[in-house]
Amino acid sequence: MTTITPDRERELLASVPTRLLLGSGWADAADGSTFAVTDPSTGETLLEIADARPEDGAAALDAAAAAQRDWARTAPRERAEILRRAFEMVTARADDFALLMTLEMGKPLHESRGEVAYGAEFLRWFAEEAPRISGRFATAPDGVNRLMVLKRPVGPCLFITPWNFPLAMATRKIAPAIAAGCTMVLKPAALTPLTSLLLAQVLREAGLPDGVLTVIPTTSAGAVTGPLIKDSRLRKLSFTGSTEVGRRLIADSAEQVLRVSMELGGNAPFLVFDDADLDRAVAGAVLAKMRNGGEACVAANRFLVQRGIAPAFTEAFVEKIRAFTVARGTEPESKMGPLVDAATRDKVAALVEDAVEDGATLALGGRVVPGAGYFYEPTVLTDVPADARILDEEIFGPVAPIVVFDTEEEAIRLANSSEFGLVAFAFTRDLNRGLRLAEEIDTGMFGLNAGVVSNPAAPFGGVKQSGLGREGGFEGIDEYLETRYVGIADPFAN
Ligand code: NAP
Repeated sequence: MTTITPDRERELLASVPTRLLLGSGWADAADGSTFAVTDPSTGETLLEIADARPEDGAAALDAAAAAQRDWARTAPRERAEILRRAFEMVTARADDFALLMTLEMGKPLHESRGEVAYGAEFLRWFAEEAPRISGRFATAPDGVNRLMVLKRPVGPCLFITPWNFPLAMATRKIAPAIAAGCTMVLKPAALTPLTSLLLAQVLREAGLPDGVLTVIPTTSAGAVTGPLIKDSRLRKLSFTGSTEVGRRLIADSAEQVLRVSMELGGNAPFLVFDDADLDRAVAGAVLAKMRNGGEACVAANRFLVQRGIAPAFTEAFVEKIRAFTVARGTEPESKMGPLVDAATRDKVAALVEDAVEDGATLALGGRVVPGAGYFYEPTVLTDVPADARILDEEIFGPVAPIVVFDTEEEAIRLANSSEFGLVAFAFTRDLNRGLRLAEEIDTGMFGLNAGVVSNPAAPFGGVKQSGLGREGGFEGIDEYLETRYVGIADPFAN
């Protein structure tokens, strides 16, 4: 693996756009404001970028509304080829995208590379879906009328994305919207806007016309996006982020009955049964918990382990995690980077402290790493009381609470005892049990003997308070299409 030098970092940062992308190209904020994007492993500023004001949000929607009609009329093949070119360009610049994500978000480079492959694949997948948008034509049951069903682009969309997967959370929305023929305003997270700006530059180079995508990083998310949500020209809001903010945005969207997609928080249970393959369960647990430093909506949040296998599972899991090197993501040996900011790190630390006060035992870790950056030790807790706050809340950090259960019935009850329903994981050699769990556990996704389920070809999304709608798969493009029915009178009538 090549060592990342300070010169390489400077050279990459110098190539990243630092202005807003509005209808006619890159622009400063209306009042010239800027804000600093920082490196969570040092706390130092990476770049100063334009800070969109409400006037810039309005200009972005003006551009999206103006471009919508022509964009909807482009050939599906043309939209597909823009996506395909963008896929190739992102892939060719994988090292740049990976390093940029590591710098602004903190994850180790090998994980950033994994996200580039995952995020780019949405561009390729939806390039393949664009020419397959279809409708239907039928004779009505009375044999007289004809029924024609068309799929039309929903129209201008607002995308609000989080900081934890800066590339993939953007491409998961942008790619199906391009395929469907929708224009878009993207507001990336203020902590990680650089990847979105670089992606926008690539999409323009790939041939995306002016106005189809605008990008408005801002430190005033509510003030900039609020008026857009109430503007009748906007037709869709797709949000990925916390349930708390999502709930508020759903309420705001009610005013003009906006179509919404919501990818919200999770509280994934990870079940290990006595008959599980121990090595596979431990490898799956490490991935499900520690990938992205635990800062993933699909991260395992609660380990529910059957009594017979609990001691062996806990010991092997702790040993694997003990070997993790916590370091700046650019260091070749880094297995885990910092948390994204001080507030996230302090919340994780508080959840662990509360659990220990309530009677949990620290099997590993449990401390903030002293020095610069927002590092927290990978942590395992055992004997966690059933009513501990850490089992209810999304941890969003490298902390694994382990709870022991006795029966399958009890495991299902514990797994379902959450307001969230994004994903669940289960390890068992009993296929029938696996299928029973997949039906009985109330989540949008289920990993059977697998610690990772995300796949661009699969429908990603949750039930209960984890969200509405699906991203990826054949289903992903439907979020950007309206169904229009055309009733046709009897063609044989005179
Ligand atoms: P967040 O605080 O809800 O922020 C998400 C996005 O919403 C950011 O762009 C944020 O802007 C913006 N935002 C915040 N308040 C807003 C408001 N009043 N109006 C409009 N936009 C607003 O979530 P986060 O901390 O970035 O991300 C972590 C959460 O995302 C976790 O709960 C995680 O589970 C969830 N997530 C879900 C999925 C999924 O697919 N289900 C995937 C990834 C993450 P600022 O950056 O300016 O605050």
